[in-house]
Amino acid sequence: MLTNDTQELVFQSVRKTATAIEAEKPDLHDVLTSFVGLFEAFETIEAQSAPWDMSGLEMDKNQFVQGKSLLEMLPLTDFASRVPQVSEVMFPVLAKSFSTLGPVVDIMQDKEFVASEDGLYASMCHVLEGDEQALEATAREKGVTPYGFAFVLAQLVAPLLRSQSKALAAHFDLSGWTQGYCPVCGSMPSVAYLAGEGGKRWLHCSTCGHDWRFRRQICPACGDNAAKGLEYFYVDDRLHERAYVCHTCKKYLLTIDIREMAAKPNMNIAPIGLIPLDIKAQQEGYEPLTALPWNSFE
Ligand SMILES: [Zn+2]
Ligand SMILES: [Zn+2]
Repeated sequence: MLTNDTQELVFQSVRKTATAIEAEKPDLHDVLTSFVGLFEAFETIEAQSAPWDMSGLEMDKNQFVQGKSLLEMLPLTDFASRVPQVSEVMFPVLAKSFSTLGPVVDIMQDKEFVASEDGLYASMCHVLEGDEQALEATAREKGVTPYGFAFVLAQLVAPLLRSQSKALAAHFDLSGWTQGYCPVCGSMPSVAYLAGEGGKRWLHCSTCGHDWRFRRQICPACGDNAAKGLEYFYVDDRLHERAYVCHTCKKYLLTIDIREMAAKPNMNIAPIGLIPLDIKAQQEGYEPLTALPWNSFE
C-alpha cells in the first residue's frame, strides 16, 4: 500500500551518512561513533527478527484521525521471547559505545536477570508503560543508577519498537493524521526534512523512525499557525540545515532540505550532524522538541 511519497526516496545507510558528516564536521567524531554503533545494532536486530504477526489487529480510524496513535490503541505485541536475542546484540554494543555504561551493563547482563520473566523483560515493560517508580525500585535493588538503567532499557526496547512500528505502519492506512507527534508511537520528531516538489515537510520520529507529512507553517509542538511560515536560522552558510523556531512555545525543530542532495542522509543519524544548530538554538533561548541523548548540554 503506497500511502506516501517518501517511499520513493532512498536514504543512505547509517554509516555512509556518518562518514559524510564527519568529513565536514570532524569535531563530531566521538558522538557519531557511539550512535552509529547503536543504530546499526537496531538494524541488525530488525534484520534477524521474524516478522510480527499483525493479523486480527484493528484500529479505530475515528480515534486515529483525532490524534490517537496506533500504539496508544494497540499495545506492543508480546516480545518476551525476543529478549535474549535483543540483549545478546545490544549489551556489548552499549558497553562499547558508551563506556560510562559499562558497570550498569555488567550488572544487567546477569544470566538470571535476563532469563527470568520478572527480570529484564518486566523492566522493559516498565519502560514502555512509563512506570518510573518500578524502574527506580529495580535500579536500587540492582545497585545501578536509575538514569543508566533507564537508558540501557530504552535501547533494548528501541529495536523491538522500531520493527513493530514498521509492521504496524505497513498494516494500517495512516492517512488523515494531522498531528506533530508520531502516528505510530506518539513520540515527537527528532528531525524534519523537506523533499519533493515545493519542499513538503516530513517529520522523522525520534523513537520508532517512522516518517510522516506535516504542514510546513504549523509548529509541531504547540500547533501554532505561523501564517508567514516559521522563522529559521542556520550556521556557517549551511542553508540546507536549519533550525525552525516557534515564537509561541519557544521550541525549535531541526530540518534538512534534502531536495538538492544527491545522496539522501539517513535520518536516524542525521540529527547528530546538526548538533552545532542545537547549540545555537539553545543559546538563543529555544528548547528542542524532544530531549535526546545528544541534545542536552547541561
Ligand atoms: Zn514513532
Ligand atoms: Zn510552538
